[in-house]
Amino acid sequence: MGQRHFHSQDKELLEEAAVIAEEMTFDFFKLSPAHWRRPRYDILTLEGLSREEISPHAHALVAKYKGCPPNSSLQSAWFDFYRVCLQDHNILKTLEATPALSLFPLLLYIVTHELVHVIRFSQFLALFEAAETEKAREETRVHQLTQKILAPLNLLDLPPVIRYYS
Ligand SMILES: [Zn+2]
Repeated sequence: MGQRHFHSQDKELLEEAAVIAEEMTFDFFKLSPAHWRRPRYDILTLEGLSREEISPHAHALVAKYKGCPPNSSLQSAWFDFYRVCLQDHNILKTLEATPALSLFPLLLYIVTHELVHVIRFSQFLALFEAAETEKAREETRVHQLTQKILAPLNLLDLPPVIRYYS
């Protein structure tokens, strides 16, 4: 795979961005760390993705899977889990083409946005398998929520990111 991917410095920024994104998003939805409705998910970069999880154009996507606890064959024990699949190659391409953007606020926005998707899927506020028109409407809603969630941070680097997505 000859795609460009994040290096260790980028991944450090991602870790920082993910910590803030999680805190802001779970606070916004009032989900404490122990909350039973807190969804299970992972945040992955390109190196950790399987072929079906790689997009030629998106900055990130959410994949949904069914999990089963070890040693349990009970249907009721199965749970949903999500993989937030960051598309390093597309994010790096956008950064190169858009000098107003920088990696940290872009990652903060992207991770927050994908977490909003995950929470809304897990609470059935949005359907994972929806028609295209509904998906487009949900996308607009998720962008609005993302901006609302990040607004209290008052990050100066954020307005260019919001302009980029609108
Ligand atoms: Zn989205």
